Amino acid sequence: MSAGPSGTENQPGQAPRFVPQKGRYEMAVSWQCADLGTDCTGEFTAGTEVELMEHITLHASQAHPEMDLTPDIVEQIRGLVRVV
Ligand SMILES: [Zn+2]
Repeated sequence: MSAGPSGTENQPGQAPRFVPQKGRYEMAVSWQCADLGTDCTGEFTAGTEVELMEHITLHASQAHPEMDLTPDIVEQIRGLVRVV
């Protein structure tokens, strides 16, 4: 167990928070609320579509409580997701 002068030992608490996984998209995806026809400047980027949809639904419930996330609307939102 000989650590170098300035070793590269692991530091606790520095583990990567995001582990890339092979999924539907391997690139980041983004979405703009204005694309849905709102006056909102909300814009979200995430590593996966699932993660992005979580951001969007949370945003919709907070910023657009009147927006009814029906399957139709959700499908429309997913159609506006862009790979970046
Ligand atoms: Zn919005």
